[in-house]
Amino acid sequence: MADVALSGIRKSFGATEVLKGVDLTIADGEFVVFVGPSGCGKSTLLRVVAGLEEADAGEVSIGGRVVTDMSPSDRGIAMVFQSYALYPHMSVYQNMAFGLTLAKADKAEIDRRVRAAAETLNITEYLDRKPKALSGGQRQRVAIGRAIVREPEVFLFDEPLSNLDAALRVRMRYEFASLHGRLKTTMVYVTHDQVEAMTLADRIVVLNGGVVEQVGAPMELYENPRTLFVAQFIGSPK
Ligand code: ADP
Ligand code: MG
Repeated sequence: MADVALSGIRKSFGATEVLKGVDLTIADGEFVVFVGPSGCGKSTLLRVVAGLEEADAGEVSIGGRVVTDMSPSDRGIAMVFQSYALYPHMSVYQNMAFGLTLAKADKAEIDRRVRAAAETLNITEYLDRKPKALSGGQRQRVAIGRAIVREPEVFLFDEPLSNLDAALRVRMRYEFASLHGRLKTTMVYVTHDQVEAMTLADRIVVLNGGVVEQVGAPMELYENPRTLFVAQFIGSPK
């Protein structure tokens, strides 16, 4: 069970309050997408959930445990960033195994997890290659693979497709949907791309000015936007 509950999350950088009291409950197994304009605090919120950023106020719970004071590695989460730096001198296999090796996991267990993740992502035939011999989409799959091998209770994705070209973004959208269908793990996904949000989300969370402006199923927001901002944001894809 890994629902995610946020209550009263506040965060300032200097005099600028970026998150002004965010409350939200994400159900176990749900695919929730945060959307909002650049600079509205999406990454900051995700980093607070991950424990990479400390909130000034509020509480984060994952799977019913309050994790506010826990380190990122104890939270049962894995995060994939927009810029997914792979180790250039390591093979795909070594890149995917690296985190588990650091955690001193059993070799056979590491091997099982890496091969299962590679299978899931269709990159088994690339396991011996170096990152530079892969396309952008394949590299991003390796980055996702690194997260999958940790068998997290919750995946956090911060604009994982924004460095890819348009055609690949479309293809990878389907891959995220199918990944969620297979793993059924809770996924929290951040994007500024309305189409991505509409395609992937069970529920969309529209962030604006540091607060949640509206939460709902994609069609719910599309048909009944509560504010002009939501209407413009969901209703007029680029
Ligand atoms: P988004 O991901 O929605 O584009 P961010 O969460 O990255 O937005 O940033 C929200 C605001 O907080 C921005 O104005 C950004 O400049 C500021 N900010 C983010 N991280 C820091 C930081 N470490 N120090 C100072 N300001 C920051
Ligand atoms: Mg961001």
